[in-house]
Amino acid sequence: MQDAPRLYLDLPFPPQGEGVALDADQMRYLATVLRLQNGDTLHVFNEAAGEWEARLEIQRKDRGQALLVAQVRAPEQPIGPVLVFAPLKRDATDLVLRMGTEMGVTRFCPVITERTNTHRINAERFRAIAIEAAEQCERLDIPLIDPLRPLTQLLAEWQGSRALYAALERQESESVGVVPGDYGLLIGPEGGFSETERRLLNTHEAIIPISLGKRILRADTAVVAGLAQLAFRSSQSI
Ligand code: SAH
Repeated sequence: MQDAPRLYLDLPFPPQGEGVALDADQMRYLATVLRLQNGDTLHVFNEAAGEWEARLEIQRKDRGQALLVAQVRAPEQPIGPVLVFAPLKRDATDLVLRMGTEMGVTRFCPVITERTNTHRINAERFRAIAIEAAEQCERLDIPLIDPLRPLTQLLAEWQGSRALYAALERQESESVGVVPGDYGLLIGPEGGFSETERRLLNTHEAIIPISLGKRILRADTAVVAGLAQLAFRSSQSI
C-alpha cells in the first residue's frame, strides 16, 4: 500500500537532489486539500522521468517545489489497447475516460457515429480526467486523446493488420481467442450502431465482432466489460 500522494508533473525533471517547481493548483491540492506539510513525502512522475520519491518544499501558499530524493520506477514503454468510442453524455464520457485509463487504454479515439448525440469534446477536460486516473492507478503515462473524427474516417485510416474488436450487441459472434499485443476496442453510442454502420463494420478487414453477453449494456459499462474481456485474453498483460 502506497500512502504518498502521486502527482503527474508535465515537465522535464532536473537531476536528483534538485527541485521541480509546483504551480498554484498543485500547491492547493497538496497543501490545502491533502494537508501536506513542509518536508512531507510525495511521488512525482511522468513518461520520460519515471517515478520519483520527492520531498515537498513549501515556499509560499501558492508556490513550492518537489525535491527529488530517489527514482523509484524507471520509465516504461506504455502498452495497452486503443479505445474507439462515441462520446456520451458528460458523466458517462467522464467514466469512460477514467475507467479506460485505469484499464490501460493508451489512446482514446472519440468518433462520430450516426447516432452519436455529442459532437463536441473538451480535450482539456478529458486530459485532466486521464491524469487524475493515472495518478490514482499507479500508471506512469497519460493516455493520448485523439481529436473527434467520423467513424468512417477512422475505419478508412485503421491499419488492416491491427485487430479492432467491435462490440456488437444482438449478433452471434465467434468467441475470441488469444488477443494480439496491439489491438483496439470499438464501442458504439447509447443508440447503438446503425444498420449501415453494422454492414460496414462486418465487412472491414480489421474488425472482429465480439459479444459482451446476452444483456444489453450501457455504453460506459460496455467499455469496461470489453476492456476486461480482451485484457484477460491478451498475449500482453496490461
Ligand atoms: N440502444 C441500443 C444498445 C446500445 S448499447 C439498443 O437498444 O440496441 C451501446 C453500445 O454498447 C453498443 O453499440 C455496443 O458497442 C455495446 N454493447 C452493449 N451491450 C453489448 C453486448 N451485449 N454485446 C456487445 N456489445 C454491447
